[in-house]
Amino acid sequence: MTRTVALVTGGSRGIGRAIVARLVRRGYSVVFTYTSDEAGATETVAEAAASGGSVRALRCDVTDPDGPERMIAASEDLGDLVIVVNNAGVTGPIGPVATVADDTVARVLDVNLVGALRVCREVVRRWEGRAVQADRSIVNVSSIAARTGAPGEYVWYAASKAGVEALTVGLAKEVAAAGIRVNAVSPGTTDTTIHARAGRSTRAAEVGARSPLGRPANPDEIAAAVEWLTTSDAGYVTGTVLDVAGGVR
Ligand code: NAP
Repeated sequence: MTRTVALVTGGSRGIGRAIVARLVRRGYSVVFTYTSDEAGATETVAEAAASGGSVRALRCDVTDPDGPERMIAASEDLGDLVIVVNNAGVTGPIGPVATVADDTVARVLDVNLVGALRVCREVVRRWEGRAVQADRSIVNVSSIAARTGAPGEYVWYAASKAGVEALTVGLAKEVAAAGIRVNAVSPGTTDTTIHARAGRSTRAAEVGARSPLGRPANPDEIAAAVEWLTTSDAGYVTGTVLDVAGGVR
């Protein structure tokens, strides 16, 4: 029997690692990408192997011209690619719009929005017109910042995620007739190292404390929503942005 495969961008730590772990436990062979976090990628693989799962790390930037093709080819080497999760994301340094550098804006839009769009494009090119073997779906990881706007922190990041949500809604309508579902999860502040990378390691605890639930999410709580969207229980869900944000709107 052909194995079913899931592709997760940005799986070397944080939310991506938790998504990899859940999809492996669900029985998928998983390919995940990363750009530089070799140690983290090794840990993700070790964690998956400990649960008896099959997982492969691929060093591949979503912004590489041939990135989407390479990651999909690596996935199809393992079997029938049926799930794609666009999780890779960056914020750039925290600050007001007046201080942001051009290369930060360009990089954030390129990774978060253009990268996700190019992966989606490559996937639907392969999936459209193929006989449907199983439920096939794409889940994009957005951010509640798409709605709050992240003033004073990273408005450019919020704008990139608003684009991810429009991409999700529009693409879902385009490809529904081909049996492909496209959804997004919109996490609130989650306890990962993304905040330290943005320059404020205490941010998750501080912002989480101001949310209605009074704490940040842990990565597995976001991964649980991503996993659900890939299941047949979500078979009538497409074009949806699912908030997992502790009550922040
Ligand atoms: P994280 O801990 O910094 O992990 C990001 C992952 O993406 C890493 O594996 C990183 O690996 C990879 N990555 C970054 N740029 C990449 C690129 N160009 N190509 C391929 N992989 C790349 O971040 P996280 O907090 O888990 O965030 C995951 C997603 O959730 C992001 O889309 C983020 O915007 C979203 N999100 C996070 C929060 C939060 O509070 N944490 C809230 C809302 C939404 P390398 O460093 O090796 O590239």
